[in-house]
Amino acid sequence: MPSTRVEISDTAVSPDHFIGGKRVSSPATFEVRSPLDWDWHLADVARGDPLTADQAVSAAVDAFPGWASLTSKQRAEPLHRLADLIDANVGMLARIECVDMAMLLESLEARVIHRGAENFRNYADLAVSYQSRHWSSKGTDNHVERMPAGPAVVITPWNAPWLLSTWKLAPALAAGNTVILKPAEWAPLSASLLADLATEAGLPPGVLNIVQGIGEEVGAALVSDRRVRRISFTGSPETARHIGVAAGRNIVPFTAELGGKGPLVVFADSDLAAAAMKAAGQYDDSGQTCLAGTRLLVEESVSTEFLELFYEHTNAHVLGDSRDPRTTVSPLIHPDHLARVEGFVERARRHGDRVLRGGERWKQDGLWYEPTLIEPLGNDSEIVQREVFGPVLTYQTFADEKEAVALANSTSYGLSGIVYTGSEERAERVARGIRAGTIWVNTYLVRDLTAPFGGIGISGIGREGGDYALDFHSDLKTIQISQGTVS
Ligand code: NAD
Repeated sequence: MPSTRVEISDTAVSPDHFIGGKRVSSPATFEVRSPLDWDWHLADVARGDPLTADQAVSAAVDAFPGWASLTSKQRAEPLHRLADLIDANVGMLARIECVDMAMLLESLEARVIHRGAENFRNYADLAVSYQSRHWSSKGTDNHVERMPAGPAVVITPWNAPWLLSTWKLAPALAAGNTVILKPAEWAPLSASLLADLATEAGLPPGVLNIVQGIGEEVGAALVSDRRVRRISFTGSPETARHIGVAAGRNIVPFTAELGGKGPLVVFADSDLAAAAMKAAGQYDDSGQTCLAGTRLLVEESVSTEFLELFYEHTNAHVLGDSRDPRTTVSPLIHPDHLARVEGFVERARRHGDRVLRGGERWKQDGLWYEPTLIEPLGNDSEIVQREVFGPVLTYQTFADEKEAVALANSTSYGLSGIVYTGSEERAERVARGIRAGTIWVNTYLVRDLTAPFGGIGISGIGREGGDYALDFHSDLKTIQISQGTVS
């Protein structure tokens, strides 16, 4: 029996799973509150268990032959309709995402929700434009084809639930796989709205299933199911280790988009004002961004000038309710996460790292934390080496390019890096020298959907984006046909 929908910010949101095209409840629920006001109880959401996981995988298995047998063009039709429905419902989707996980409403409305529509549109078209490879060699005609791989499990984190769900679902569906999405328990609501829109778009039942619940419970059951043929995960390295074990046991390919500790390198020859503004911009979304440049590395000779500009921009930040257009820094997602961020800063203080700015909660009755800058005692300080995932940046200086690259490469992460320089030659050298999946030079967060995306080291395994994601969600088959004699 489905539960009654919950009215949140003028929208009726289902707190249930979405399995085989139907809403399905669970005997147990978990509580979802708004980071904008922790007393605001948003919903009691269905808490899936291994039985729920089994039901959802069964629905995806049943729907797979029908969906996989369609042409890419036929699959593109409902995906395009879904994209159009997303664009037509931006206001509702943005409001729910905002109250659920506190991303700034203005950027949700202007960019983030539309990007979800773009993900579906792009992948629908990219799958249609796929050309199988043909060539002749050694007396045979060779063909390489993509085949849908089977039911896929997609697991997403809380920091960009809408964006990352659509980014991962679109290639899986366009490639012909059926999917079970498990959104993060701290921000599960926008996924529920996506299920409504997918139904309206005419996606056949069982092609997209959404299972709500706790990662260690229903998430672990999903990734352990032997019928699952792909796992696409975004989250922390700790969880990836568990999922990797399950994937290894069943010999299932998985991609893992994990944490980051990106360097933001500023050379003396750069446009310092632009670099300082971008550095202060790393506090956007309260630093809960995997791609953020959280380690500021600045050439010694311009340190004083850079810091002055950086403080100017940082002091201009407005902490507040994410629905208020004046706000630039939102609250953190959850009291446990706030405590985690506080823990990092307290340990840094005890270790002898110097807090240059911030280092406290903004006010006692909310989930905001002051934009914080810390000068570490040494490069091996925990605050430099571990992802905080909050509004906490570190500050270090370097003498020359060699030292800058060495510092940039001195953590176990390798997701992204940002470089500011006025020299094209240096830009090329440094971009090549930094070990990371994505490097931005004199810019940040500009990303073409067809470019590969992923991490090095503990930042991840595999690549998503463009054809890379479609290849991941397919089984590639080589067919060789003799051109003459039958042997
Ligand atoms: P998390 O690893 O705690 O949880 C991510 C998801 O995994 C959630 O849906 C959770 O329920 C699920 N999960 C937890 N344990 C599981 C298990 N044993 N089996 C299956 N599923 C399980 O991560 P989080 O705290 O939600 O997100 C923050 C992390 O995500 C940060 O490290 C951040 O850098 C990373 N992240 C990476 C990217 C990227 O593209 N590289 C993007 C966003 C966030």
